[in-house]
Amino acid sequence: MGMDVRDGLQMECIHCAQCIDACETVMTKLGRPRGLIRHSSRAELQGEPRRWLRPRLVFYPVLLVLVLGALTVALARRAPADVTVLRGSGSPFVVLPSGEVSNQVRIKIANRSREHRRYLIDLAGADSIRLIAPENPLGVAAGKTATATVFVAAPRAAFAGGQRDIGVRVSDGAGFSSLSTFRLLGPSDGGRS
Ligand code: SF4
Repeated sequence: MGMDVRDGLQMECIHCAQCIDACETVMTKLGRPRGLIRHSSRAELQGEPRRWLRPRLVFYPVLLVLVLGALTVALARRAPADVTVLRGSGSPFVVLPSGEVSNQVRIKIANRSREHRRYLIDLAGADSIRLIAPENPLGVAAGKTATATVFVAAPRAAFAGGQRDIGVRVSDGAGFSSLSTFRLLGPSDGGRS
């Protein structure tokens, strides 16, 4: 770094320790005591004994173990899939010729497992409400994400105040099952028409 180490600590030093190696090599060849340039502390240079057991020597390893443990537990408990249920773009609902009210729903599934999985989508707590899904089950490759666009058709009488909550269940038949609440929107006059 273009400095003279004999001038003591300097801010240009990047602590690469090459001067220590070079000094040790030269002093060894000359048969002189090693350690002229070495890692030390101001207190040690002033003659105080070196303290090997310092709080940070205990604190940092314990902190590292705790962080690694928390990370391991989080990874072990991570669900094998992640499901997000979103409202479809465009108008919030359409009234079908049958009189039913249809909502478009997008279901995003992230497969976090190491195998290809097929996810079955169905509705919970939704008697008389139909699920129209072009691709069901939805296949998702390992580590990939796919989105299913489905439609939920409900009779007008199913709505109160223009809305109705339903459950959207996604399961893979291999132990994973997720239930998300989704709010259907419909005409605010409900079943009075
Ligand atoms: S540690 Fe590296 S940068 Fe610092 S004085 Fe020694 S050789 Fe130079």
